Amino acid sequence: MSEYREINFKKKFGQNFLSDKNLLSSIVRDASITKDDVVLEIGAGAGALTEFLVSSAKKVVSFEVDNELEKVLAAKFSDSDNIKIVYEDFLKVEEQELYSLLGCDFKVVANLPYYITSPIITKLCTLKHRPKVIVIMVQKEVGERITARAGHSDYGYFSAFISANAESKVVRNVNRKMFTPVPNVDSCIVRLDLKDNGYNQDFFEFLKQAFKMKRKTLVNNLSASFDKTKVITALNSLKLDNSIRAEAIDIEQFYKLYELIS
Ligand code: SAM
Repeated sequence: MSEYREINFKKKFGQNFLSDKNLLSSIVRDASITKDDVVLEIGAGAGALTEFLVSSAKKVVSFEVDNELEKVLAAKFSDSDNIKIVYEDFLKVEEQELYSLLGCDFKVVANLPYYITSPIITKLCTLKHRPKVIVIMVQKEVGERITARAGHSDYGYFSAFISANAESKVVRNVNRKMFTPVPNVDSCIVRLDLKDNGYNQDFFEFLKQAFKMKRKTLVNNLSASFDKTKVITALNSLKLDNSIRAEAIDIEQFYKLYELIS
């Protein structure tokens, strides 16, 4: 697209930019952004989505790892006083720095590079002060995995981790042709509404263990770390079959199992 002819797109940073104004304003609507909201954006790029966030939110803090984009972003936002762009790798940012920039009450909107989808979501879900809402662009198949329910073939550790932390929904499909340059995959927008779960890190380790080997039964996976008889007794007391696999179990059942076994 002509507006991006000056940009030297970097594949290593997952740089596929948006420009369609209808899509950009829909993403902002998907996150229900109002003038009361402080928004964390991850991956400003050339500022296409940032621009829509800046005009809808009270304040925007946007992280961008590629400081070669500084010139274009500085020019674009020279007249805006509610945007701060931080040229850092978001995955390396300390929590305290985040809260000093954002406060403790914020939403996240991001068109993310696909290879960092899970580390970014994991980081956001494990912050002391978590965002209320996360609206992110992800690869279509990843969106299906994130929002899969127990019993579905896409359901795995990451789906269970997400359902422990949030209500999740695919709110929009996005065709690959909407990006410049056009990537090899289609995308979707996922909205996560975070909930207070009270689950601790120990429970998430238990969950990881339960899903460790996809082909194994839950009893076999958990027996690597816990007494096998205890695992079987716990399953039976929840009226679950000994041959059940982790893929069939929802997060509430997992937590009951964890309480009985650990
Ligand atoms: N938001 C822009 C848009 O919608 O057109 C750009 C989206 S592009 C898919 C992702 C952006 O994230 C790129 O500009 C890339 O340089 C940036 N990025 C990649 N890894 C990052 C990281 N770890 N921290 C911050 N930004 C990152």
